[in-house]
Amino acid sequence: MPAETCDVVIIGGGVIGCAIAHRVASRGTSVVLVDAGQRLGLGASDGAMGGILTQTEPSCLGPLSSVIKRSRDIYPGWLEEIQAASGVEVPVLDGGDIQVALDDDEMRRLESKVLPQWQNSPFAVVQLSAAEARSLEPLLSERVVGGFLLPEELALDPRVLMAALTGAVLSGRTPIRVLSAVRAVDLRTGPGGVEVELHDGRRVSADTAVVAAGHLSGVFLPHHSAYLFPIKGVAFDVRPPGAVTYPLRHHVFAEIRQDGREYYPYLVPRYDGRVAVGVTYEENVGDVTVTAAAIEEIRRGVAALMPKAATWPIGRRWAGLRPGSADHMPILGPVDDHGRVLAATGHSGLGVTLAPVTAELVGALVDGTVGPREKELLAICRPDRPFPAAPPTPPVSPPPTAR
Ligand SMILES: Cc1cc2nc3c(=O)[nH]c(=O)nc-3n(C[C@H](O)[C@H](O)[C@H](O)COP(=O)(O)OP(=O)(O)OC[C@H]3O[C@@H](n4cnc5c(N)ncnc54)[C@H](O)[C@@H]3O)c2cc1C
Repeated sequence: MPAETCDVVIIGGGVIGCAIAHRVASRGTSVVLVDAGQRLGLGASDGAMGGILTQTEPSCLGPLSSVIKRSRDIYPGWLEEIQAASGVEVPVLDGGDIQVALDDDEMRRLESKVLPQWQNSPFAVVQLSAAEARSLEPLLSERVVGGFLLPEELALDPRVLMAALTGAVLSGRTPIRVLSAVRAVDLRTGPGGVEVELHDGRRVSADTAVVAAGHLSGVFLPHHSAYLFPIKGVAFDVRPPGAVTYPLRHHVFAEIRQDGREYYPYLVPRYDGRVAVGVTYEENVGDVTVTAAAIEEIRRGVAALMPKAATWPIGRRWAGLRPGSADHMPILGPVDDHGRVLAATGHSGLGVTLAPVTAELVGALVDGTVGPREKELLAICRPDRPFPAAPPTPPVSPPPTAR
C-alpha cells in the first residue's frame, strides 16, 4: 500500500493535537491528523473542568508562569479565530476564580504560603473578607472565613471548545486530512523525514511528526516514557432546578481538611445552567471507571464549600486521564536526532489552559519561525530538561475508540 504523504503528521486529536493542526494548516502546511477515537476530542479533553487557570494549580506558579501568561494573553484572540473558522460559539465566563478558606488554619496557610506566590506571579490577586466572598457568591458556606479572587482566570465548557476546534479542523478551509478511529502503532524517523504506521497497515510519510497522544504519548517517545503517566480525574455535573444560564458568577475552589481527610471541591459554572463539579486527582491510575467512592468524596467537599450545590441533582458523571509529566509541565520540542519528531504532551491538568500557546510554539517550530519570545518559552518546556523520578507507570487503558 503506498504511503499517504503530507508536510506534518499529528498523532492525537485532543485539544493539543487539534490546536496544533489548526495553527500549522492555517499557514498553508498540509496536515494529516490521526486519532484513535470515533471522533476528535474524546480523550482527556472531553473530561476537563474547563478552567483557564492562571494561578490555581501549583504548577502555574513556577517556571511555567510565563508560558501560562502568554497563553492567557492570546486566549481571547485564539477563541475568536476558532469560532470564526467553525461557526461554533464558545461562551466564556470571565468572573475569575474564588478560592476560600473554611477555617483559620487554612486562611493562615493561604496568607503565609500561597499568597506570596500569587503575588509573585504575573497575574492579579485580590484578598476577600468572608462577607466580600459571600457577596460575590452568596451560596458559599457560612463556614467561609475569607478568601481570594483570582480575577484573570476564565472558564469554558471543554466539550463546546472541542466542538469548535473540531469544526475549525474539519472546515475544509485549511488542508487538514483527519483519520479518525485509526491508531498509530509505530513512528520511524530519519534524515529524510518520518513515517507513521497505522494499525490497519496504512502508512503516512511526512517531513515532521507531532506526538500529541495525551497520556499515551510515551509509546512514541521512548526517551520520555518513564516520565509520562496518566492522572485520573473524576467529576460530574449538576443542575440547580430551573437554571438556564450560569448559576454562579465565578468558578470556586477550596482545600478542606476535616474528619482527618482532605477535599478539593472545585465548581465550574456552565453557560446553560449546569455546574461541573470535581475533581479527583489520582496519579498513575489509568482506568476511566467512575467509582461511587470518588463521587462521594467530591460530594462531601462540595457539601462543605457550598451546601446548596450538594443538593442539586447529578447529571453526567465521567472520568478522564490527564497526560501527566513528572514535573507537571508540558514537553514541547524535538526529541529525535533528526529534529523531525516534535513532542507536544505532558500538559497534566493544564492542557485546556495551554492549548493556544502550545499551538503557537509548536507552529513556530514547524514553520522555522522561532523568535526570541518563542525561544524563551520553549526553553522552559524543552524535552531535554532534567525530570524528577516519576512513579512506575501502571497498565493503561487503550485509546477511547468506542466512547
Ligand atoms: C477531570 C479533569 C479535569 C481537568 N480540568 C482541567 C482544567 O480545568 N483546565 C485545564 O487546563 N485542563 C484541565 N484538565 C486537563 C486537560 O483535560 C488535559 O491536559 C488536556 O485535555 C490534554 O489534551 P491532549 O490533547 O494532550 O490529550 P487528550 O485529550 O487525551 O488527547 C489525546 C488524543 O490522542 C489519541 N491517541 C492516543 N494514542 C493514540 C494512537 N496510538 N494513535 C492515534 N491516536 C491516539 C486519543 O484518542 C486522544 O484523542 C483536566 C483533565 C481532567 C481529566
